[in-house]
Amino acid sequence: MSNTTSLVIEKGAGSATAATIASGVALKHLQLDVERLIDAYELDVICHSCNTLHKCAIGWLRVHSTMDCENCHSSIVLRTSLMNEEMRRVARQLRKLREQLSEMIGRAAGILRQ
Ligand SMILES: [Zn+2]
Repeated sequence: MSNTTSLVIEKGAGSATAATIASGVALKHLQLDVERLIDAYELDVICHSCNTLHKCAIGWLRVHSTMDCENCHSSIVLRTSLMNEEMRRVARQLRKLREQLSEMIGRAAGILRQ
């Protein structure tokens, strides 16, 4: 994230062309970073046997259907309909945030071009 910001500052405060390039680069980074953020986002998984709270990243949850509770060793079923809905909700919100940011970056780049 800090890389993206410095790129915008370095190239953004230049000529019209630099501003255009910077917004393009920033948008590309934003695109990649949001997908990584979605994968890294941790959801709460609660063991129904002992109520232990586990934090599981969405990227990890996508490829696992069960996990063993570290506390009581019972098997926890992942990706229940509720968990799937939560994964979709987080992805939706982060992508929406990216769209809003893209629009704002585009607008700011437009102002720099003037
Ligand atoms: Zn447990």
